[in-house]
Amino acid sequence: MKRHLLITVLIAALMFFLAFQIYMIHSIWKQKEEILFMRYKTLSREALTILLTKKKANGFEKAMDVTDKFTELVIGEQIPLLRTEADTVTIRKEVLSQVYKIMEKNEHLSGFIRDYIEKYGYDSKFETFTFINPLTLITGDGDFVIFDTIPPPPRKTMIVVNSFKEEHNNFVIGYTLLIDLTRKNEMVFREASFSFALITASILIVLIVFWVTWKNLAEERRLSDLKTDFINNMTHELKTPLSTITVAGRTLEKNQVLSDPGKVLETAKLIGKQSVHLNQLINTILEVSLLERTEFELDKHKVNPEELIHQIIAAFLTSCDGCAVIEEEYNTADMTIELDILYFTTMINNLLANAVKYCETDPVIKVSAVSEGGNMVVSVSDNGIGISREHLDHIFEKFYRITHGNIHKTKGLGLGLYYVRRIATAHGGDVTVTSKPGRGTTFRISIPQ
Ligand code: ADP
Repeated sequence: MKRHLLITVLIAALMFFLAFQIYMIHSIWKQKEEILFMRYKTLSREALTILLTKKKANGFEKAMDVTDKFTELVIGEQIPLLRTEADTVTIRKEVLSQVYKIMEKNEHLSGFIRDYIEKYGYDSKFETFTFINPLTLITGDGDFVIFDTIPPPPRKTMIVVNSFKEEHNNFVIGYTLLIDLTRKNEMVFREASFSFALITASILIVLIVFWVTWKNLAEERRLSDLKTDFINNMTHELKTPLSTITVAGRTLEKNQVLSDPGKVLETAKLIGKQSVHLNQLINTILEVSLLERTEFELDKHKVNPEELIHQIIAAFLTSCDGCAVIEEEYNTADMTIELDILYFTTMINNLLANAVKYCETDPVIKVSAVSEGGNMVVSVSDNGIGISREHLDHIFEKFYRITHGNIHKTKGLGLGLYYVRRIATAHGGDVTVTSKPGRGTTFRISIPQ
């Protein structure tokens, strides 16, 4: 329950953090965008003011003079000829386009603003636009309106720099100057890149911390599950011989058993056997807890592997009443190797016992010892049930057992292979496993000579 709560709080915190970072990115973007617009607006306004104070010297003024003359011409020559509504529309269009042309040709506005902005070290890749509105010709008979509509709404990347209204001899003109930052997103991104890099780094760090915490929690959970399994197994393993002993003890109390020396002996033997088994179990647990606390102290002796392994196999077959067929193969005739005989025996015994335990037909085991690149490699192959891929990486872990449906079907504490690996590494070697489910398993112990 506590773990679930912790995970929920962790995920909620992560979500909140990510949402906050997204909000931060959004507001930084908006802020930088505003600053960018402001900067371009201020600079172009400054440029415009400078240009206008130069009066006649600038292209705009010149354009106005030319427009003045042009409109005088229109008023004098064309307006008196207007007869129909269509004539009016045509002349309006014509005048407007001519005025635009004159202004475009004569104004140095864009160039001036561009140079000015560039002088301050900012990107000058933008476009400028002038919208004329209104444009009215002043005639003796009153005003002749050429253009009097609202200009199209500016695009998202456009800034209104300024609007002006001028009155000349023959016309009144209003115009709005706009600049369009076509590469706005790129510019804003460049401005905000440092902040974004910091945010990305912090997101990455938090994600890594989250992932590590998550992994640790999962590992903790796995270990606690393993421990629970181990305690269940151990209780079961210890209870079986204990209950046999209890029942046997009670049997001995019965008169008809007491009067039969044969039965007394049989029961006493059973008690003895179960006590030995109990003792072995307790020893295994004690050994493992001892191994945890101290480093291995090996009592090494020079041995010939073939001789030693052959003896171990013979003893194993005797103790299990010939429970398997074991084929042996050696190429280590002249080889000697330093081993702790007791530990090495335990290691091979564990592998043989597993080969028998995890086999659903008659066990046929192949044991080989070869000398390979300065190492002695002992292989134990069986024709058992095999181990599927997902378990292969874990079988050497302490208390790890594969539950074959009912966990107690095969007895064990999940310590055998753990022990095998610890002994192999204590000898400076290692153990590997390959397996095909349903076909069999091969363990390879490699120990340097
Ligand atoms: P235990 O035998 O006490 O369960 P081990 O550490 O010896 O513990 O083995 C761990 C697990 O590896 C076992 O539960 C079993 O499922 C699997 N295993 C070990 N050896 C073999 C084998 N030769 N064939 C199939 N499965 C095996």
